[in-house]
Amino acid sequence: MTTSSSVRVGVLGLGAMGGALAGALVKAGYATTVWNRSPGKADALVEQGAEAAATARDAVRGSHVVIACLLDHASVHEVLDPLVDELAGRTLVNVTTTSPAQAREFATWAAEAGVDYLDGGIMAVPHMIGRPEASLLYSGSAEAFERCKPLLDTWGTSTYFGTDAGLASLYDLALLAGMYVMFAGFMHGAAMVAPAGVTAGEFAAMAAPWLTAMTGGFEEFAAVIDGGDYTVPGQQSLEFSDLGHIVAASAEQGIGTEVIGMVQGLIRRQIDAGHGEEGFARIIESIRQPA
Ligand code: NDP
Repeated sequence: MTTSSSVRVGVLGLGAMGGALAGALVKAGYATTVWNRSPGKADALVEQGAEAAATARDAVRGSHVVIACLLDHASVHEVLDPLVDELAGRTLVNVTTTSPAQAREFATWAAEAGVDYLDGGIMAVPHMIGRPEASLLYSGSAEAFERCKPLLDTWGTSTYFGTDAGLASLYDLALLAGMYVMFAGFMHGAAMVAPAGVTAGEFAAMAAPWLTAMTGGFEEFAAVIDGGDYTVPGQQSLEFSDLGHIVAASAEQGIGTEVIGMVQGLIRRQIDAGHGEEGFARIIESIRQPA
C-alpha cells in the first residue's frame, strides 16, 4: 500500500488536467516532480511544493509512479518511447484520453518494456479534481491499481474495471456517448420551445429535474436488456412509444427533426420487424445491429 510519505510521483504533462492532477498530489503530501514540454507551466506547482524536472527523463528517473496526462495517444508515445529503458520496473498510470484499442496497444508496449501499466479515463473537468464527484476509471494491472489506490483517490473516486487495459477507455467513451446524446436531447427541447418565446434558461429549469428523475428508468431497462426478454409484462411498448407526434410538433415549430427523428428511427425499425408490442428497451437491438 502506498502512502504519501513514501512514494515519489512524476507527472508528465501540465495542461489544464495534468496541472490539476499534480496540484492534488502536492496538496496530499506526495513528493511530486513535474515536467511539461513547454516551459512556464510548472511555476505555480513549484510554488506549492512540486519539483520541476528539466526533461521527461529526469521526472521519470526519480519517481516510483509516473503519471502521463498528455494530449493524445500519439503524444504519449512521442514522450515515452525514448524513455523505455528508464520506465522499466516502474509503475505507469496513463490518464491521457485514448481509444480502447490504443489503450490495449499501450499496455502491450508497457508489458514488453517491463512497465506495470494502468490505463485511466477521467470523468471530470479540472476544477472537480480532488473532490469525490470526480470519477476516475481504471483498467490494466491489478497490482498497480491496488498499490496506487491511495494516490489515485486524491483525485476523486477511483473505479477499477479489471485487467483488460481497454475497458476504462471503453467505459469513458460510452459514458460520454450517453452524455452527448442527452445534451442533444436538451438542445432539441430548447429549440422546440424557443419559437413560443421560452428562453433556454426557462426550459433548463424544467428539463434538469425531469431528466434527472428519468434516469431512474435505467435500472429497469437494464434488467430487461440483461434478461434478454423484451416481452416482460409492465413495460411501455414500442407501439405506445411511437414519437410521430413529437416529430410532427417539432416540424410545426419550424425546427430540425434529426435528433428526435433518430430515436424514432430506432423505434420504427423494431416495430417494422414485428416487435411493436414489446418493450421500449428493445431499441437497443436497432443500435446493436446497424441498419
Ligand atoms: P491541454 O491541451 O490543456 O494540455 C495538453 C498537454 O499535453 C500539455 O501539457 C501539452 O504540452 C502536452 N502535449 C501535447 N502534445 C504533446 C507532445 N507531442 N509532446 C509532449 N507534450 C505534449 O489538455 P488537458 O490537460 O485538458 O488534457 C490532457 C488529457 O486529459 C487529454 O487526453 C484529455 O482528453 C484528458 N481529459 C481532459 C479533461 C478536461 O476537462 N480538460 C477531461 C477529461 C480528460 P504543451 O504545454 O507543451 O503544449
